[in-house]
Amino acid sequence: RAVIGVDLGGTKIATGLLDPTGSLLARSQKATAGLRSSEEVIATIVETIKEVRGQRDIGGIGVASPGMVDSKNGIILNGVNLPDWDGISLQSELEERLGISVRLINDANAAAWGEYIYGAGRGSQSMVYVTLSTGIGSGLVLDGRLFLGTSSFAGELGHTVVDPHGALCGCGQRGCWETFASGTAIARIAHEAIAKSAAASQMNLLADEEGVPVSAKHVFQAAGKGDALAGEVLEQIIHYTGLGLMNIIHSFNPDCIVIGGGVSRAGAAFFEPLLKKTEELVMEPYRGTFAIKPAELKDDVGIIGAGALFVGHP
Ligand code: ADP
Ligand code: ZN
Repeated sequence: RAVIGVDLGGTKIATGLLDPTGSLLARSQKATAGLRSSEEVIATIVETIKEVRGQRDIGGIGVASPGMVDSKNGIILNGVNLPDWDGISLQSELEERLGISVRLINDANAAAWGEYIYGAGRGSQSMVYVTLSTGIGSGLVLDGRLFLGTSSFAGELGHTVVDPHGALCGCGQRGCWETFASGTAIARIAHEAIAKSAAASQMNLLADEEGVPVSAKHVFQAAGKGDALAGEVLEQIIHYTGLGLMNIIHSFNPDCIVIGGGVSRAGAAFFEPLLKKTEELVMEPYRGTFAIKPAELKDDVGIIGAGALFVGHP
């Protein structure tokens, strides 16, 4: 039977119909900008589901949401960018309206499950998914099962502390991993290095050509062209990212770490030094026990991961 995945993003609701192999058979997307109440948001979600469903018999609907989600009770605890969206019992609202079983899950956990069933984590036993984007999100598949924890909040690895004297994080702590290795953090570290350096950097030239401030992408591009300052920044970033992965490896002993998010678009210039550094950082018995792979599911990972909750046994 086909399943449906819904991805509640910051700016759009994206819904897809998936066949059992994870292929998208139909897709519907609506902007959330004009919606004024939770009732309108729910109605819009239902509309997208009806659009992709057609006359089909559906095995279940998975919904991926940003922020804190109570998966056991199907409640969105803190709404991100949606009106009156805190404490919404989305699971029962949708089940009542559609008569189909619904599961609600945090978006990083959905992505983890999607990559495990259909993406770069296929065939792995224990896999940790990490998205390096504006922040750092993550999800854990341990011994073949999606691990959610007591309150279904497990996997906020971006907020594990790497340096208690580090930069202030959005969560209130200092020196969380995401203040060192997210795309935002990479840009900040680059700006700090540029401000301290007397020499001109390719990072500025590349950013100026695009008419934008220096971002993570320019660090990788300039380092690739041999820019010394960008090379130093990159080395720091690889070190910090590797420290986070080391903590993950020592905690969960995964055979596979899948990395998604904007920063993973840097490709081999990121993955090759990162594997080397992480192998150096971990304790000896862990060496050679894990792969670090780029995510495969790209933009539809939320839809596919949420739908995949009804495939396999999360
Ligand atoms: P969001 O957090 O909105 O989901 P993304 O996952 O696309 O967004 O992540 C955005 C971050 O990824 C930004 O900090 C951006 O600078 C960085 N990024 C985008 N493309 C690249 C690239 N090719 N190389 C390195 N970093 C990149
Ligand atoms: Zn934090």
